[in-house]
Amino acid sequence: MSIRVRFAPSPTGYLHVGGARTALFNWLHARQTGGTFILRIEDTDADRSSTEMVQGILDGLRWLGLDWDEGPEVGGPHEPYFQSQRLDRYRALAHELLAGGRAYRCFCTPDAIKARREGAEADGRGWKYDRVCAALPADEVMARVDAGEPHAIRFLVPEGTTGFDDTVHGRIEFANADIEDFVVLRSDGHPTYHLSVVADDVDMDVSHVVRGDDHISNTPKHVLIFEALGRAVPAFAHVPLILGTDKKRLSKRHGATSVMEYARQGFLPEALFNFLALLGWSPANDREIFDKGDLIEAFSLGGISGGNAVFNPDKLEWFNQQHIQRLPAGEIARRIEPILRERGRWRESFTTGERAWLLSLIELLKPRAKRLHDFADETPYLFGDDMAFDESAVARHLPDRDAHDLLAALAGRLSSAEPFDRETLDIALRAFAAERGLKAGAVIHPARVALTGRSVSPGLFEMMELLGRDRTLARLRSAPSGTSA
Ligand code: GLU
Repeated sequence: MSIRVRFAPSPTGYLHVGGARTALFNWLHARQTGGTFILRIEDTDADRSSTEMVQGILDGLRWLGLDWDEGPEVGGPHEPYFQSQRLDRYRALAHELLAGGRAYRCFCTPDAIKARREGAEADGRGWKYDRVCAALPADEVMARVDAGEPHAIRFLVPEGTTGFDDTVHGRIEFANADIEDFVVLRSDGHPTYHLSVVADDVDMDVSHVVRGDDHISNTPKHVLIFEALGRAVPAFAHVPLILGTDKKRLSKRHGATSVMEYARQGFLPEALFNFLALLGWSPANDREIFDKGDLIEAFSLGGISGGNAVFNPDKLEWFNQQHIQRLPAGEIARRIEPILRERGRWRESFTTGERAWLLSLIELLKPRAKRLHDFADETPYLFGDDMAFDESAVARHLPDRDAHDLLAALAGRLSSAEPFDRETLDIALRAFAAERGLKAGAVIHPARVALTGRSVSPGLFEMMELLGRDRTLARLRSAPSGTSA
C-alpha cells in the first residue's frame, strides 16, 4: 500500500511552529517512503478563515522547504483540496450514514439541549445527548423533514469500545458509553470537523494520520465513522504538544510563534527545519545537526516520543548559528541582499567589482553571526563612515592626547604597509608596539575604537584590510580622545 499523508491546517491564523512541525513530520514520512504528501485546507469555518491566511500558510510551508504533491496551487487527482468546496460530498456521506442506520436526524434545538444539559448538571449528573430523536418513529421524522423543520444529523454511537494503535502512544481505547452521539452535519448543512476530516481522509486515500496530540479524544469518533462507512481505518500517530520553557503550552507570550516571523528575524529555513524536527523526535544517536536529506534518511514515526517537547529559543538560535557556519559566503550574500537593501547598505557593485569585498566581509562575520541580520547590522562602520563612538570605549581606550598621538603615529607606520593586507598589518602593528615598549593590546584596543567606535569587534587586521588603506588611516588620524570628544 502506498503511503499517503496529509497536513490539514485550518486557515484561521498564520502557520504556527506547532503546525509546521506536524507538517514536517508528515513530509518526512512521505519523502522517506516515496509516498505522497497532501496539503488540504480545512476552511469550513468561513467566518474565521481567510484567503490571506491560506496564502500565509502556503508561504510558510514553501519557505521551510515543505513542498506538497497534491493540494492548493499544484492540484492533484482529488481536487478540490479546500473543504469549503467539498460540502456536497460531506452531505452525501452524512446521508449515506443515515441510510445505513448509522446516524439519525435530530430536531432538538440548541436551546432545548441547553435546558436539558443544565437540568442534569444542576442535579450533579453528567450529560451527553439523550437520544430523544433516535427514538422518533420513521413516519414522524419524514413528516417533520417534509415540513422543512431544521435538523442536524447525529452519528449513532454503537455499544462497546473503540480503540486504535497509535504509533506514538501505543494502544488507546475509549468506552463508547463515554462518547456522545455527535453531530456530523449541522442544521445549516455544514459538516462538523469529524465528518469532513474523515470524508477527506477516505476520499484522498490517506494511509497515515499524523497530527497533534490535542486530537486524540476526537480519534475514536473518526474511527467509528470510518468503520460505519466500511472504509479502512488509517494508522494514527499523535505528536506531542510543544511547550514553552515554562512548561506551559507554547503561545505568543513565549515570543514569535509564526514561521514567517522567524524568517523575518533572520533565521534560516534549514535551521528552523532542523530544530522543529528535533522537537519531539530524536534519532537513535545524539546527533543534532541535520540537513533535510539527512533527516529524510534518519526519520521514523516510531522515533517520536510521547512526552511534550519544549521550545527553547536559545537552542533555535544555536541551530541557526550552526547552519549559518555551513553556508558558503556566496549563498549568505544572496540571502542577506534583501536585508542590506532594506537598510540602505546594499551597493550594486556587490555583485561585480566589490563582490570579493562582500564575501570577505561575510567570512569575517560568519563565525559570530547568529541571525542573517547580524551581517547587516553588527558592523555598520564597515559599510560606510557613519561611525557612532561608544563613550565608555573612548574613555577607556582613548583617554587622552597621548592615545591620539599614538594612533597618528600608527597611521604613519601603516601608510607604507605593502600589501595592505591582514598579515602585513599584523606584523607592522606588533613591531610598532614593540618599538615603543608597549604590549600589542595597548595599540590594538585604541585602534579598534578608532576604526569601529566600539570596544568589541571582529578581528582588527581583517577589518583594516576590508576598510582599505585610505579609510583605515583616516579613521586612525581622526579618532576622538577622551579630552577632545
Ligand atoms: N484542521 C485540523 C487542525 O488544524 C486538522 C486536524 C487533523 O489533522 O485531522 O488541527
